[in-house]
Amino acid sequence: MRFVSLTIDGRQVEVAEGTTVLEAARKLGIEIPTLCYDNDLSIAGACRLCIVEVEGNNKNLPASCALPVAEGMVVHTNSPKVREARKIILELLLANHPLDCLTCEANGRCKLQQYCYEYGVKESRFSGERRHFAIDDNHPFIERDLEKCILCGKCVRVCQEVQGVGAIDYSGRGFDTKVATFMDRSLADSPCVSCGQCIYMCPVGALTAKPSKGKGRDFEVTKVVTTCGYCGVGCQLALNVKDDKIVGVTNVPDSHNQGYLCVKGRFGYEFVDDPERLTTPLIKENGKFREASWEEALDLVAQKFNEIRAKYGPDALAGVSSARVTNEENYLFQKFFRAVIGTNNVDHCARL
Ligand code: SF4
Ligand code: SF4
Ligand code: SF4
Repeated sequence: MRFVSLTIDGRQVEVAEGTTVLEAARKLGIEIPTLCYDNDLSIAGACRLCIVEVEGNNKNLPASCALPVAEGMVVHTNSPKVREARKIILELLLANHPLDCLTCEANGRCKLQQYCYEYGVKESRFSGERRHFAIDDNHPFIERDLEKCILCGKCVRVCQEVQGVGAIDYSGRGFDTKVATFMDRSLADSPCVSCGQCIYMCPVGALTAKPSKGKGRDFEVTKVVTTCGYCGVGCQLALNVKDDKIVGVTNVPDSHNQGYLCVKGRFGYEFVDDPERLTTPLIKENGKFREASWEEALDLVAQKFNEIRAKYGPDALAGVSSARVTNEENYLFQKFFRAVIGTNNVDHCARL
């Protein structure tokens, strides 16, 4: 592998050939603002916010996410010229943006808001026609407000490149460009598998997790990292907790699942506080359930097991275990059936 040496903001760095200037800067701990870049996605160069000044190039300010390093390159990531250009880019985005921060779910985690704050951009000097789209609220979990969309394309790329679904893509040209499903149907009528990856990727408030709406902003919740209980993959996720209630689930990027989740892990948490959730064992008598203690219920199960085994033999019994419990519990379960009951009739829901 060949290495290339370059200077970024007066500091020398050596990186592998083919590295981008953005990645080289990050290696030095220099943060360049981005709206459309993500490590996991192909490079789009769509937002242009990561522009830098390269000495000897008087023609333009190249986007650092798409600019490969070159030997001897001298880069300035935060010069007055760069900052001024970034301000104009932010103003151009705001020219077609509702500025609804007071009620927006993304307030506090929105990157557009964050960069406008950092660059002192309060309003846009560009006025003109604005895009108007109806909110797509048909999907059970995702609300789409395309008036807030800045066309960074991260949702399109994560859906195609990571999920392999391709439920959405760019549609239209120029001013009419928008992110749409095939035939511009509602997201609910698309091949979307409700993984919610697009919500996680969206740098603004264009995509909202409906079950979390109005229940607390990012800075109001406590994030409790845990393991998803739905299957044996054991994805890491962060339960967003407010007032002792789970109000949402967000990604844990540094995990073996790299933050990605399926619909169950992402949206299947409301059962935790469901008032109809069973809290005690129930025993059926005369066709009706009554509440029982764990001791009573387990004694009854043991008694029935013994009766069946005595009358029909151990192979009259079978056990099906669950992917929602730990490996250790599954081990104990099969051990119980084999060694205590005396049958190999044991299986697991994930194999059925
Ligand atoms: S998307 Fe960001 S900038 Fe736009 S209204 Fe929401 S918080 Fe404000
Ligand atoms: S929820 Fe998942 S499948 Fe549906 S559009 Fe978003 S990324 Fe694609
Ligand atoms: S919906 Fe969000 S992620 Fe998708 S293009 Fe618009 S701003 Fe980007």
